[in-house]
Amino acid sequence: MQNAILVRYSEIFLKGKNKSYFEKSLLNNIIENTKQFPCNIQKISGRILITNYDKKHEKKLLNNVKNVFGVHSVSPATYFETSIENIEDYISTIRLNNNSFRVTVKRADKNFPINSTEFSKRLGEIILNNNPNIKVDLHNYDIEVNVDIREQNRTFVFYDTINGVGGMPVGTSSGGLLLLSGGIDSPVAGYMMAKRGMSISALHFQSIPYTSEMAKEKVIKLAQLLSEYTGNIKLYICSFTKVQEAIHKHCKPEYMITIMRRIMVRIAERIANENNLKAIITGESLGQVASQTIESITSTNIVSDVVPILRPLIAMDKEEITTISKERNFFETSILPYEDCCTVFLPKYPIIKPKLEKVEKEESRLDIEKLVNEAIATIEIVETKNL
Ligand code: ATP
Ligand code: MG
Repeated sequence: MQNAILVRYSEIFLKGKNKSYFEKSLLNNIIENTKQFPCNIQKISGRILITNYDKKHEKKLLNNVKNVFGVHSVSPATYFETSIENIEDYISTIRLNNNSFRVTVKRADKNFPINSTEFSKRLGEIILNNNPNIKVDLHNYDIEVNVDIREQNRTFVFYDTINGVGGMPVGTSSGGLLLLSGGIDSPVAGYMMAKRGMSISALHFQSIPYTSEMAKEKVIKLAQLLSEYTGNIKLYICSFTKVQEAIHKHCKPEYMITIMRRIMVRIAERIANENNLKAIITGESLGQVASQTIESITSTNIVSDVVPILRPLIAMDKEEITTISKERNFFETSILPYEDCCTVFLPKYPIIKPKLEKVEKEESRLDIEKLVNEAIATIEIVETKNL
């Protein structure tokens, strides 16, 4: 008899010929996300199985595995060699404190000689005999005893099924560059794209001395929290001070944000191209602030020649975004009160519906190419890992 964690996976089933590629990615991501705990991880038919771990690590293992995209659910289980006798022996050791229960037998191994309904009844009787204060209730049960008779002569017994995060394994889609601020939205945007299989790199703009070292530490922390779901993140930290000072000096204040965004995107596109990243990701949501009107979005889109800008939060409201941020444990860090570079030199009345000709005219007072090159030269790279 051994402890095991049964891992079920989701949409991967739909992928026909690519199925084994998806399964392999999922397996690798699970191995990566559990490597601090010695254990054996293998693919069995239709499931992934984790065995040979120290029982005291089980809770943490379950937690790490359920957070891997592509995982539908996990169950801590006990398993042993399949035989009627072994199963009945094990079932007769079960002691339950609940009021009601049901037994659910599943036979992935159709060679097993008794059909599932009949065997469920038989096992239910054994439990009743050993637990006189409990009754069977097939619909409103307090506890379900699952007996999963699988191929290769292995039977698993488990009580709990914990939902996983779902989605597709990270790495099954090309990489994207997340514009990561210290706010609530952008970590959620990265989370959502990773959920669709995208591997994530991140770019943060800081404005030292206008923003503090603490603001930078906060962003590194956010990238680290995000990497619990995405795997390691390469975080590019770029100084935006010179760019902001130049805009502030030469352009009308109401265009500050629009021009800042356009320069951020130009820098991001350069980094994406140089690192084979296929998309830029932002946490923008339509109408949330002045710089997130469709006109502002158009004026930033247009500077990115090749790389598309993905905005997974575009149609979500703040409450929905905050719910995900809290569920995924980003929120506490996101609300730490360090300023973002976007709040430095913030104009009183930013232009809400910028006209492209006017933006371009304002921008023509700047040597954009030089500013982009100088900013890129300041980049420092931090690799964040799932700890
Ligand atoms: P967030 O909560 O993600 O900070 P926000 O609601 O504060 O978003 P804005 O400040 O308008 O909105 O930023 C919109 C998007 O621009 C962010 O979601 C992020 O993708 C990007 N962005 C803003 N500031 C930075 C920054 N300092 N570094 C990198 N990206 C940034
Ligand atoms: Mg922000």
